[in-house]
Amino acid sequence: MYGELKEECGIFGIYNQKNAPNWIYLGLYALQHRGQEGAGIVCSDGQVLSAHRGVGLVNDVFPPHKLARVKGYIGIGHVRYSTFGASNLRNVQPFLMSYFQGPIALCHNGNLVNGELLKYQLEQKGAIFQSTSDSEVMIHLIARSKEHQFVDAVIDALKKVKGAFSILTMNNKELVAVRDPFGFRPLWIGKKGKAIVFASETCALDLVGAKWVREVEPGEVVHICGNEVNSYFPFKEVVPKQCIFEFIYVARPDSVIFGKSVDQVRKQLGRELAKIAPVDADFVMAVPDSSNPAALGYAHESGLPFDMGFIRNHYVGRTFIEPDPKMRDFGVKIKLNPSKDTVKGKRIVLVDDSIVRGTTARKIIRMLKRCKVKEIHYRVASPPIINSCYYGIDTPNREKLIAYTMSKECRNREEIIEKIRRYLGVDTLAYLTIPAMLKATGCDPKHFCTACFDNNYPTPIPSNFTIPDKENSAYQHDLTLDER
Ligand code: AMP
Repeated sequence: MYGELKEECGIFGIYNQKNAPNWIYLGLYALQHRGQEGAGIVCSDGQVLSAHRGVGLVNDVFPPHKLARVKGYIGIGHVRYSTFGASNLRNVQPFLMSYFQGPIALCHNGNLVNGELLKYQLEQKGAIFQSTSDSEVMIHLIARSKEHQFVDAVIDALKKVKGAFSILTMNNKELVAVRDPFGFRPLWIGKKGKAIVFASETCALDLVGAKWVREVEPGEVVHICGNEVNSYFPFKEVVPKQCIFEFIYVARPDSVIFGKSVDQVRKQLGRELAKIAPVDADFVMAVPDSSNPAALGYAHESGLPFDMGFIRNHYVGRTFIEPDPKMRDFGVKIKLNPSKDTVKGKRIVLVDDSIVRGTTARKIIRMLKRCKVKEIHYRVASPPIINSCYYGIDTPNREKLIAYTMSKECRNREEIIEKIRRYLGVDTLAYLTIPAMLKATGCDPKHFCTACFDNNYPTPIPSNFTIPDKENSAYQHDLTLDER
C-alpha cells in the first residue's frame, strides 16, 4: 500500500569537516524531534563510503564504538519517523547503494506523490527495491540517468518526481542538497569554519556551532565538489507552498524556518486565538510541550495568568511517534500528569496546538476532570484538520480525523465544532481560523500549503494514493536487526 511510504524526518549533512560522523551525530541529536524510529549516517573519506544505521533514538543507534565505524569528511545523516510497518532497518536512511558510477547515498525528508507509480514502472523494467520507502525510487532514477555528472543525474532524476522532497545525496567526493520547487519541507545551509553544513532546522546548526547562512530556496539545487559550491534552479518555477504544519507542530520552537522564528509564530498563533475566542477563566495552561508557546501567546493577549497544569515526563517520545496504536494510548498516560492542586476547582483555558484524531484531547480532558476542575475551555491554535497530508506529515486516513468525521451531517463550521465539543466533553471549544493562522505567520499567505485544513493540494494527488490505517496494518517492528 502506498501509505507505507509516508514519512516525517530530519536530515543533516556536512562537507569538508574533520570527524564528520561526530558532527552529524550531534546534528541528528538536535533533530531528534523530527523522527525517533531510526537514524543513520553515511560518510566518505574521499574514496570509500562507510555507514551505520539502526532502529531507535540517535543515542541508542550510535554508541561510541558504532559511531567510530563511520569515517570521513563528507557525510549525510537522517532521523526517521515512519507511520507504520516500515520502521525496520531496511527503511532506515540514508540509503547507501552502488551503481556503475560508484557508491551513492541519499536521505530524504518529505513524501513523493508519484513514488508508487515510479516504483511500479521501475519494477516493470526489472528494478529490485530493498525498502518500502519512496526515497529509494530517487536512487534508482539517479542510477538510470543518462547524465554523466553526478549533479546532472540528480537533477535529471528529480525532474521526474512530484511531491515533497528536501534531499541530501552524495557520492565519494560530492554532496548535493535539493529542496523541491514548492519548498514543502525546510532545509538550511550553514557554515562551520571551512565546512558547509545542511540541516532541516537551525537548532541543529546551533548545536554544531555552525553559522546560519540561509535557507536552501524552494527549487534550488546546491552542489559541492572540492572547494566549489554551485547553486542551480533547474525546475519549473511555482509559487512556494511551504508546510504550515511545520510552524504549528513539527519544528522546534528555537528554530527559524521559512524565514520566521517558530517560537514567535506559535506565540502569535496563540495571540490570534485569544482575539478570536476570549473567555473568562482563572488561568491558561498548555498541553506540553508542543503547545507551550501558543498557550503563552494566548495568556499574553488575554491578560490571564499562565500556569503549568500538566507536568510532562520528558523521557518518553511524542504521542504519535510509536507506530503501534496501543503504545500511543499508553503514551498519553505516561507522558502527561496533571498537577492536582493547581487545577482543582479552577476554570481553565487549555491550549492545544492541534487536534488530529481527538483521542489525546479526550484523554487529557478525562484526566483533568478526575482532578475536579471547574470548567475546561479548550482552545486549538490551528484550524480543524479535515484532510490527510500527502507531503510528509503524519495525518491519518481522513475517516480518522475527528473534524472530518464530525463534519458529516453538519451544515456549517459552528455545528461541527459544537459536535466535537460534546464529544470531548468540555465547556467551550474554539479553533483558530485559516486567515488568522496565516496572519500569525507574518509571511505571504500564498506561500503556504494549507491542504489539511482547506483541501487545496498544490499537486494533483493520484487516485490510488491511500493513507495508512495504522491500526489495521500488518505492523512489523524489527528492533533486533542492527547493521554491521
Ligand atoms: P490526536 O488528536 O489524538 O490525534 O492528537 C493530537 C496531538 O498530537 C496534538 O496535540 C499534537 O500535539 C500532536 N500531533 C499533531 N500532529 C502530529 C503529528 N503529525 N505527529 C505527531 N504528533 C502530532
